[in-house]
Amino acid sequence: MANESIDVTESVLFYLGLAKYISTRGTCPTKQVGAVIVDEGLNIVLSTGLNDAPRGLQRCGAECQNRTIGENSKSCQAIHAEMNAILNAARVGIPITKATMYVTISPCLNCARAIIQSGISAVYASSMSPYEKALDILKQAGVKTAIVSGVSLPRVIMPPWMTSEDTSG
Ligand SMILES: [Zn+2]
Ligand SMILES: [Zn+2]
Repeated sequence: MANESIDVTESVLFYLGLAKYISTRGTCPTKQVGAVIVDEGLNIVLSTGLNDAPRGLQRCGAECQNRTIGENSKSCQAIHAEMNAILNAARVGIPITKATMYVTISPCLNCARAIIQSGISAVYASSMSPYEKALDILKQAGVKTAIVSGVSLPRVIMPPWMTSEDTSG
């Protein structure tokens, strides 16, 4: 799953870091996942999602504690982060056609199908899930995909007026 000639820019690392930050609020004990949908042209975040139960319903419990991703998921209450980001946009009527999704782990098949159908045109993930087939269907549908490893939380960039006394340049 090499990166297919997609530039790993500062912006890509920033949004993958942001997805990681958002994932820290994920409520399924199996794995915390975060997703961010971005309009690349305007450089604005359109929607975010994490893995959590639908609003008002009971969250995942012990049944998800010792589970491996992709296995015994029938009792999992969570909507996946990618799906949640898409549904959150739908809920408030934000178009996400041709947007880019940044997610902390590559999507499952169901999320990949939703990503394709929602019109998202590219997916960056900061780790690889067991769902290699999901990447295949994204590619088949013309959605660009890239796995970018080694992502950390966004680096703080100080504005010039705050660093003027810094002699290190
Ligand atoms: Zn769960
Ligand atoms: Zn999924």
